[in-house]
Amino acid sequence: MPSDSASALARIAIVGGSLAGVRAAEALRAEGYEGALTLIGAEPHAPYDRPPLSKQVLRGDWDTARTRLRFDPSALAVELRLGSAATALDVRAREVLLASGERVGYDGLVIATGCAPRKLPFALPRLGVHDLRTLDDAIALRELLVRAPRVCVIGAGFIGLEVASSCRALGLSCTVVEPLAVPLEPKIGARMAQLVCTLHRDAGVQLRTGVGVAAIEGDARVERVRLLDGSAIDADVVVVGIGVAPSVRWLEGSGVELGDGVECDASCATNVPNVVAAGDIARWPNGWLDQRMRVEHWTHAVEQAAHAAKRLLRGPAFREAFATVPYFWSDQHGVKIQFAGHYAPGDELLLVEGNEAERKLVALYGRAGRVSGVLALGKPARLMHYRKRIAEGMRWDEALQERERGST
Ligand code: FAD
Repeated sequence: MPSDSASALARIAIVGGSLAGVRAAEALRAEGYEGALTLIGAEPHAPYDRPPLSKQVLRGDWDTARTRLRFDPSALAVELRLGSAATALDVRAREVLLASGERVGYDGLVIATGCAPRKLPFALPRLGVHDLRTLDDAIALRELLVRAPRVCVIGAGFIGLEVASSCRALGLSCTVVEPLAVPLEPKIGARMAQLVCTLHRDAGVQLRTGVGVAAIEGDARVERVRLLDGSAIDADVVVVGIGVAPSVRWLEGSGVELGDGVECDASCATNVPNVVAAGDIARWPNGWLDQRMRVEHWTHAVEQAAHAAKRLLRGPAFREAFATVPYFWSDQHGVKIQFAGHYAPGDELLLVEGNEAERKLVALYGRAGRVSGVLALGKPARLMHYRKRIAEGMRWDEALQERERGST
């Protein structure tokens, strides 16, 4: 049943018609909220899932309809306002302003506008250069890949590497350019990052590491990528995967505290009463690590949306902190790579199961006497086991002892 605080919220608006927004709507109803609920989204499509975009959709294995999130707006009495971005927030009037000129009033607000791709800082040919964030991006890219034998991916983050994997599955030539000497090293450490590089090299991906991009050349259509060392990579399609930035422009000047995203307290509340945030956009003090962070992963968006919904309904009396062990997965060349926790340079690494040659393993990361992270290749159940134990505060000496005994 709704609390007293919830019954004061006759109208709740959620801005961001995707994962965190949809899960927040479901959580609000599950918590007993019976008032008006409006979901505002910039994209015209029914809410869909992003992970398949760089995988099944790009490879052509899935029809785009399969990416749709399981979500029934009429059963949940959610009014959808899709295809019109929020352009501003008036916290005094309690209104969201839309690009269409409409204003949507609210008593409670969930901010879930996620992130958008970072752009290269130079002019690009008009044709053949793509980001990958939205369903429309994936459809456009897929159409190009059918006719493009040579692909260059700029940026060896998880999305760039998944694109490379999908390109190889399609039999395309693929080069990945990355300024870091070892891609992913800041996320999972040198040894495991080298292993991921080996997966790619063995699958025929050309990795050009330790060098940045100077320009993308071509008149109307892309022809080549010029690197800072003067060399060039001929390409029919270029995919830019150089990271994302929080979609906060519509909140500028609103009074909602912004930094690297929307700044929240431990309970996911912003500095403005009755306004919470969740998903890729929210930066909050994660009690698990005692550190402010923003997490750009699927499971996080789901978990934080549920917490933010509770906080909105129950008001400031709800003091429960949102503490979580961040988790993501990535599928590359037929291998499921999963990581939970947090990596920092200097962390210890302990292989507790499997080995690199088999490409099936579990590795633990240790810091300050605790297990701080776990990476698994092809061992999903073990990954989840360790995620739970990390949340419970698993000690590093326990990990060492268990490996000695061979019983984890
Ligand atoms: P988003 O999904 O970005 O949704 C935000 C929504 O808000 C968007 O629909 C956007 O159009 C809308 N919006 C933005 N600005 C406005 C505005 N002003 N007004 C109205 N609406 C607005 N994570 C994993 O853990 N594993 C994976 O394998 C994985 N694969 C991925 C593959 C791809 C190609 C991408 C792009 C992401 C992947 N992720 C993966 C990350 C995961 O999808 C995100 O963490 C998740 O989508 C975050 O959900 P969100 O709702 O916070 O943000």
